[in-house]
Amino acid sequence: MSQKNIAASQKASQTKGKNKSAKDKRVHSVKGMRDFLENDQLLLEKIFDTFKELTRFYNYRLISTPIVEPLELFERSNGEQSDIVQKEMYQVKARGSSKKLGLRPEFTPSAVRAYIENGLTHQPHPVKLALYGPLFRHDKPQLGRYRQFHQADLEIFSTKNNPLYDAQIILASYRLFEAFKINDVIIQINSIGCKACRPNYVKQLAEYYKKNKKSACEDCKDRLPKNTLRLLDCKKEKCQELKSSVPMSLEHLCVECKTHFKSVLEFLEELGLPYNLNHTLVRGLDYYSKTVFEFTLEKTDANEKFQNLSLGGGGRYDYLVEHFGARHTPAVGVALGVDRIMDLIKERKLSITVRPKDKIFLIHIGELAKRKSLPLIEELRKSKIQIREALGKESLAAQLKIADKLGVKIALIFGQKEAFEDSVIIRDMKTGAQETVPLAKIAKVLKKRL
Ligand SMILES: [Zn+2]
Ligand SMILES: [Zn+2]
Repeated sequence: MSQKNIAASQKASQTKGKNKSAKDKRVHSVKGMRDFLENDQLLLEKIFDTFKELTRFYNYRLISTPIVEPLELFERSNGEQSDIVQKEMYQVKARGSSKKLGLRPEFTPSAVRAYIENGLTHQPHPVKLALYGPLFRHDKPQLGRYRQFHQADLEIFSTKNNPLYDAQIILASYRLFEAFKINDVIIQINSIGCKACRPNYVKQLAEYYKKNKKSACEDCKDRLPKNTLRLLDCKKEKCQELKSSVPMSLEHLCVECKTHFKSVLEFLEELGLPYNLNHTLVRGLDYYSKTVFEFTLEKTDANEKFQNLSLGGGGRYDYLVEHFGARHTPAVGVALGVDRIMDLIKERKLSITVRPKDKIFLIHIGELAKRKSLPLIEELRKSKIQIREALGKESLAAQLKIADKLGVKIALIFGQKEAFEDSVIIRDMKTGAQETVPLAKIAKVLKKRL
């Protein structure tokens, strides 16, 4: 913008502003997107930190991919006709560019792109990747569902479609829930077969729905010719009865798929992880094959609010890598709904320590002490001693009040006399015992006390 234009636009907004009330001038966040104030932000980071710790233990490599990707990436992985691409994706375009871009609605396509593009295909397999961060879907906002949301994601690329990896991905997910005292998660699991056996099952399913078309909801009637498997996803009341006697994919699996699935279940049993064979679980994405799973809460009255929400889910996608031009590479992945975990922690009032408690408070009295407090705090910082202060307050009473509220173990009292003599009083807040220590020794003494 030229100087002249800037001036003109400022003038325009000023005249506009004149007619606006103070309230009208405010700009609000986008519907379904939210700010994270301190406690929420700390909790969010705590979940990511815990996730990172788990990924280190289980040998995943942490990577990150751009939030903006070519739209084509998601069109080709999910199918151009999929709900995600058709209804939920944020499409963006840079001014002056005709390239179609999209805000990522999920991690898997980006992980696959990055895996191929960065030559991870040539590294020793399995290649285990971990990703986390914000994603975007223009979904209907409700409890646990936001238009900007966060996921923690794991992907394993391997040379053979070993059921061990399905189990390992489920295990790591389960451990993340447990780390946040969410101990009533059930693994909903199903197998939707492979290229060899799925078409036959889909045929059976289509025939079943055609026969009972009258009892299906309008959406399902519409979906039937395009995406038959998705009918099993229908949450409408009208379709529930129809769903209860639907043909089961497990009965139509080929020998290889059957053996694979049985082996996954055996691993879960060995680990003592609770699962439920869920015949109508298909997951909404086109690229899955064989194992699909979701994490839900046990059905109890207390969990009613969260009953229809999955805390995460995933599955095997043995054909997606070759779909993007690399050699055949079986893979399995999971995405965990971080916002839902947060909402659940808050709903249940689970006490999760998001920040260590303050232990030391510095009280200063007088100008000299205040001035000398700054380098003193820096000295302690070098020794990695966390300290709270209220240097902006002058009165002793006000400072004591804060120290009391924080419930610190130790108060450092830096009075006029101490400041002059380069010493400080260490006061044990519980016993009231005091000791005067030279500034040069303060870090050492505090470390001993903590
Ligand atoms: Zn099969
Ligand atoms: Zn329906």
